[in-house]
Amino acid sequence: MKLLIACLATETNTFSPMPTGQLAFESVMVTREATKSTANLFTAPLHEWRCMAEDRGWEVVESLSAAAQPAGNTVRAVYEAFRDEILADIEKHQPDVLLMSMHGAMVADGYDDCEGDMMSRARAIMGPDKVIGLELDPHNHLTRAMLDNATLIINFKEYPHVDAPERARELFVMAADAAEGKTKPVMRTHDCRMLTIIETMKEPAKTYVQAMKDAEGKDGVLSVSLTHGFPWADVADVGAKTLVIADGNADKAASAAKDFADKLWDIREGLRMNYPDIPAALDIVDAATEFPVTLADMGDNAGGGAPADSTFFLQEIVKRGAKDIAHGVFWDPVLVTMCQDAGVGARMRVRLGGKICKESGDAVDLEVTVRAIRENMTQKLGESDMPMGTGVWLDADGVHLVVSSVRTQNFSPSVYTDLGINIDEMRALIPKSTNHFYQNFERISPQVIHVRTPGTVTPDMTIIPFTKRDGNFWPKVENPFN
Ligand SMILES: [Zn+2]
Repeated sequence: MKLLIACLATETNTFSPMPTGQLAFESVMVTREATKSTANLFTAPLHEWRCMAEDRGWEVVESLSAAAQPAGNTVRAVYEAFRDEILADIEKHQPDVLLMSMHGAMVADGYDDCEGDMMSRARAIMGPDKVIGLELDPHNHLTRAMLDNATLIINFKEYPHVDAPERARELFVMAADAAEGKTKPVMRTHDCRMLTIIETMKEPAKTYVQAMKDAEGKDGVLSVSLTHGFPWADVADVGAKTLVIADGNADKAASAAKDFADKLWDIREGLRMNYPDIPAALDIVDAATEFPVTLADMGDNAGGGAPADSTFFLQEIVKRGAKDIAHGVFWDPVLVTMCQDAGVGARMRVRLGGKICKESGDAVDLEVTVRAIRENMTQKLGESDMPMGTGVWLDADGVHLVVSSVRTQNFSPSVYTDLGINIDEMRALIPKSTNHFYQNFERISPQVIHVRTPGTVTPDMTIIPFTKRDGNFWPKVENPFN
C-alpha cells in the first residue's frame, strides 16, 4: 500500500478584516517535512499516520503541510498554490490511500468551501475506488462536496481539541480496513438546525461525547462525529450536523445520524450560553474569596479569527483601578519590537490594543514597566505545542499585560508564568480565548468564567449577520422544526 499524507488548515472568519496570505501561513507552518518536527494540532495526525503505516510496511509519501492562524478570507492565489502542490504530489505518486488533516472551515476568495474543492479535485485524480480519509476540526462546515468525495471523514470529538492524535489513529484503521476490502464505509449526515458553542469537558456535552464513543463499533457503526459548525463564517453550510459512518449500510448511518441529531436537540437548554458581561464578571472577582479567578475574553479569540487586540476588558479594569490582574495575550508585533529595543526594566508609555479594527474598541494609553521579554515561546494544547513568538510582560502598576509577536489565543497560564508572573498573587487571569484555555486554567483556578465580551467572534449567535444561510436555527429561533 502507498499512503500520501498532507495538511492544509485554517479556519476562516469571513467577518474578520485581516487577510490570510502567504505570510500568515509562513508565520505558523509551511513545510514538506511535518513529521520531522514537533507535532502541532493539525500535524499531529500526520505523525500518527506515518507511524501506523510504517508499522504495516506501507510506503509513505509526505506532501505539503501548511497552516495559518484563523483570520479573514484566505488569499486566492495562496490557497490555489498550496492546493495545486498537494494535487501534483497525488498525481505523481498515485497513492492507494490519501489521508489529509484539514480544518473544514477554510474560505478563500472565490472558494466558500476549500476542503470540498480539495476533496473533489483529489477524487478526480485518484478515481472512484481509492480511499480518501479526512480529519477535521469540529468547527467545520461539513459540505456536500466533502461528503461526496471523501471516503471517510472524522471530526475531533473534544472542544478543547485535545484528541486529534486519537481520532487520527481511528481514521487510519478505518482507511486501512477500507483499502484492504474489509469494510465498505458509507457516510450519512443530519442537519441539527442548531448553532452554539459546545464545551465538551462540561455536561451535558460530556455525556453526549461518551454516547458517540459508545455507539462506535456496534451494529455496523464505524464512527460518529458531531460538527459543531464555525459560527463566524458567512457560508451556506454553517451550522451543527451529525455524521455517521457505517459499514455498507446507508440506512443504518442515516438513522444513527438522525438519532444523534435528536439527542443534541434534547440537551439544547444545557448548551444555551448565559455568560456574564465584563462588569458582571469583574464583580464576581470582587466578591470572590479564592484566587485567581479566570475570566475568558471570548469575543477576541484569535483562534476564531479575531485580532487579539481588543481592549474592552482593559478599559473596564483601568476605569475601576483594579490590580493584581494578568491579561492577554495581546497581539502587537510593533510594540514587542519597541520593548525589545527598550529592554527589560524600561519604563515607557505604550498605546495598547484597538489597532486592527473597530470591533477591537479604542486603544488604551498606559505607562508601563517592561518586566520580561522571552523569545520563541510556546503553549501546550493537549499534547501539541502552539507557537506565540516573542512574549513581553508589561506591568501597568499591578495590571500585568502579556503582548506577543505572533497572534495566538491563550491556551495556558504558562504564558504568564513563563514570563515570570506569579499567578498565585493574581486575583484574576483574563485569557483571550473561547474555550481552548479551559483545561489548563481549570487546573489552577478555583473559578473559571466565560465572559460575553464584544469582538469579531461574539458568542451571541443571534446577531451574526449571515447572508448565505437562513435564520432558521436554534437559538435564533426557539423551534426551527416548525
Ligand atoms: Zn475548532
